[in-house]
Amino acid sequence: MKFFSTNKQSPLASFFEAMRNGLAPDGGLYMPESIPRLPDTFWNSLPNLSFSEIAFQMARPFLGDEIGEEELAGAVEDAFNFPVKIHSLDGQVHILELFHGPTLAFKDFGARFMARLFSVKAQKEEQDVTILVATSGDTGSAVAHGFYKVPGIKVCLLYPAGKVSRLQEQQMATLGENITTLEVDGVFDDCQRLVKQAFVDKELNRAMQLSSANSINIARLLPQSFYYAFAAGELQKQGISAKPAFSVPSGNFGNLTGGILAMKMGLPVARFIAATNVNDVVPEFLHGSEFSPRDSIQTISNAMDVGNPSNFVRIQALFENSDDAIRQNIKGYSYSDEITREAICEVFDTHNYLMCPHTAIGYRAAKEFIQKNNSPNPVISLATAHPVKFRDVIEPETGTTIDVPERLEKWLKREKTSIPIGKSYEEFKEFLMRR
Ligand SMILES: *Cc1c(COP(=O)(O)O)cnc(C)c1O
Repeated sequence: MKFFSTNKQSPLASFFEAMRNGLAPDGGLYMPESIPRLPDTFWNSLPNLSFSEIAFQMARPFLGDEIGEEELAGAVEDAFNFPVKIHSLDGQVHILELFHGPTLAFKDFGARFMARLFSVKAQKEEQDVTILVATSGDTGSAVAHGFYKVPGIKVCLLYPAGKVSRLQEQQMATLGENITTLEVDGVFDDCQRLVKQAFVDKELNRAMQLSSANSINIARLLPQSFYYAFAAGELQKQGISAKPAFSVPSGNFGNLTGGILAMKMGLPVARFIAATNVNDVVPEFLHGSEFSPRDSIQTISNAMDVGNPSNFVRIQALFENSDDAIRQNIKGYSYSDEITREAICEVFDTHNYLMCPHTAIGYRAAKEFIQKNNSPNPVISLATAHPVKFRDVIEPETGTTIDVPERLEKWLKREKTSIPIGKSYEEFKEFLMRR
């Protein structure tokens, strides 16, 4: 399989080239040249397949010509060594818990899969690879843990100072070894800008092998399609065979793009629901406006504080740049912090179930979708982080206390080692060159 850049100015790349490059040389995002449609026999057998089996079948057409079957099966087994659970709230809304990985957020899927593939590759290369990541919190911890002590790889994480939760910071900024963390005096968009600029800086790229692990990396995108298929199979196991809709709490839209990929591979999907906080560039577009990126606004669902969602160009590519097709397949809803808080409380009061703010936005959108469209379809609403990661928000709101799992407790006790830097590109570049 070959991958093209959404800017169309770069040569086609193999999967591993696209993974190594992160962003294409022309600044575009990589996409597969064609989307393989898996046979009906596969889609009909979902309830009988394990997560790893589904992942293997869905990954193979994209990288089967570059990695052996056993290597791929091993990478998949290793990457997805934690459970994926469905919690049915009522007859119609089913919460897909994607937060049972080591850093308690769905980003473990992308980060762990990519780290396994990088380590397969790194063993065959001479020069160390430096992975640059801008993070608003969860990406950083997932990537840091995924790559921790992987030979041949250095990781440099950038996060906005004071704008990630203490737990997120402790999880990524205390590891040391091959993981360096930079605390940027700015917002997430500044971090993203610094990283993007580094990738197109010729001098820097001559001095070191840079690679990315952001949601723009194709190796992170691909595994985010697997759990859509797995979830559909789980519902079928419960005897629910109607096509599901998927509600996806979204920021950079990598998660939702993964779902569209699964649909294009043949997964029956009733509709996608793009759920955002007040950073609502995409819902606005879906309601008929132009796509107009702007500065991000800080909210309690901070992993979705994105003003210029990078994966939107991929969604356009998947729908052959047809705005109509995008609007037909995806409904968009956005919510304030106040409504998010209300949703957290409502679900806790009626179902005794705790949701992180991102998950609550997805849930709220699922409810609005059902109501507005009189939809009879089941809705799978993606739970992107464990509530304990956002206990500062949830506990005062619901008046309940969330126990901190032991594996998290240990991070809170460790010493932070991050380095403060300003938001100018020159300062960032100088830091990288000195290393
Ligand atoms: C990253 C993240 C999101 C947004 O995912 P995108 O792929 O950027 O749209 C939502 N919730 C949580 C908890 C996240 O960490």
